[in-house]
Amino acid sequence: MKRTFISILAAAAILAAACGTVYAEDGYTPPHEHEWEFVSHTDYTCTEDGYDLYVCKTCGEEDRRITDEASHRNELVSETDPDCENGGEQVFVCSVCGEKTVITTPALGHDWRDGETVKKPTLFTKGALRFVCKRNDAHVRYEDIPSELASSPAAAASFFSVLGAAVLALLTTGAKILFDKIKKRRSPEIDAEDGAK
Ligand SMILES: [Zn+2]
Ligand SMILES: [Zn+2]
Ligand SMILES: [Zn+2]
Repeated sequence: MKRTFISILAAAAILAAACGTVYAEDGYTPPHEHEWEFVSHTDYTCTEDGYDLYVCKTCGEEDRRITDEASHRNELVSETDPDCENGGEQVFVCSVCGEKTVITTPALGHDWRDGETVKKPTLFTKGALRFVCKRNDAHVRYEDIPSELASSPAAAASFFSVLGAAVLALLTTGAKILFDKIKKRRSPEIDAEDGAK
């Protein structure tokens, strides 16, 4: 009875030893559910992800579980706001490795108020509109207002009809004067007058 008990113990011991060593010696591991055990945490760096390391208690396989992505510890060192014509800039420097990162933002562009007429156009001359930027009163631009003649077909039409009438009137008057002169020249009194001279 005692012997049997010892042999059972021995068998159990051999079996236990076999279980513990066989896997490691020949690399064979029977199918099993990994039994993960947390081993250590590695903090992220500028270039490497941070992770928790787990190891399977049965086969020793490692499992790295990412906790944080690689990242610089950036600190803002200077900042310029964008304006109408110039882009903005934020400069960051990594407190660990010193790497500089510059983030730029595009210029905003002008935001013009409605134009104000500073010079009215006439029939022949251009006028001018003045625009002031909402962001900065110093930003001013001008735009031409076309002359009435150029901008309005009706004005052009009336101008040319007036011009036409004027030219016609001028021609008519001229012709009349010329005709009168010729007529006078032909009249006997004028001929006598001429002869007297
Ligand atoms: Zn395992
Ligand atoms: Zn860094
Ligand atoms: Zn502006």
